[in-house]
Amino acid sequence: DFDVSRPWLNRVLEGQPRLILKAVDGVSFTINRGETLSLVGESGCGKSTVARVICGLYPPSRGSVNFDGVDLATITDRNTMLAMRRRFQMIFQDPFASLNPRWRVGRIIAEPIRSHDLLKDDDAIKARVGELLLQVGLSPLDMTKYPHEFSGGQRQRISIARALSSNPEFLICDEPTSALDVSVQAQILNLMKDLQRAHGLTYLFISHNLAVVSHISNRVGVMYLGRIVEIAETKTLFNRPLHPYTQMLQSAIPDIKMSGKSRTPVAGEVPNPLNPPTGCAFHPRCPFANERCKVERPELKDYSGTLAACHGVEEGRIPVAK
Ligand code: SF4
Ligand code: MG
Repeated sequence: DFDVSRPWLNRVLEGQPRLILKAVDGVSFTINRGETLSLVGESGCGKSTVARVICGLYPPSRGSVNFDGVDLATITDRNTMLAMRRRFQMIFQDPFASLNPRWRVGRIIAEPIRSHDLLKDDDAIKARVGELLLQVGLSPLDMTKYPHEFSGGQRQRISIARALSSNPEFLICDEPTSALDVSVQAQILNLMKDLQRAHGLTYLFISHNLAVVSHISNRVGVMYLGRIVEIAETKTLFNRPLHPYTQMLQSAIPDIKMSGKSRTPVAGEVPNPLNPPTGCAFHPRCPFANERCKVERPELKDYSGTLAACHGVEEGRIPVAK
């Protein structure tokens, strides 16, 4: 449960009346052990910010991140923090940018093992790296190569091996397949599913693509301009989206049986987050907006297990799939 404001943007705006941009505003959710929760939304909705806050890369301006019952901000001791950090790892969208091009793959994958002091002996580390390469569908012989010798999908496999090398329990995956071809995306998603089963991993999966996450998630949260507007079990959210924005995302998913083309494009642009709309931030794009929507911000409410933040849903005037 936290807010995040972006101080560097405030610096850009120096000289103007002080303005705090809330990149993430009162986002609150729990991820259960062994499950996959996905956060979905268009770029700029704050989903990557959420991932970075959980990793400790941005401090929240209010609220807290709890891992296994411990508020991460209360850990001041370096060794305790290091021990905690071993337990969660991040996988990024662009595996080329996140892999040091001057390091051999073996060194890249071994780095978390060394920094967390998990194995001391060089031969043991080498054996472990070989085992990790096999687990992600590569060969132990690949450890002497450099990242540029691999395809995009293979590089993402290397990132996954590196993330797994510290025996984490929780993986935060920020658009891990977005830079890849569709067929390679499916292979990486299947690999991630297999690894989850084999190691009892918990995933937070960040994506702009509702179709991609539907195959891997137990639950999905939809974000719009820094807030979660709907969160539900994947099947429920997919078959019976309540929030007009979720409905818009869902109807934009290409219908493979029909034509391979999107049925309905997502209409309108995401507003400037520096000047978010009043009331429901989605109201300028919403076909169901009324006067109340323009002034009153809707809160998440429970509709038989689906949480949705929408006055129209509350008032029973949003058509819902049967
Ligand atoms: Fe649309 Fe109003 Fe619901 Fe916002 S609160 S999504 S504007 S109906
Ligand atoms: Mg992003």
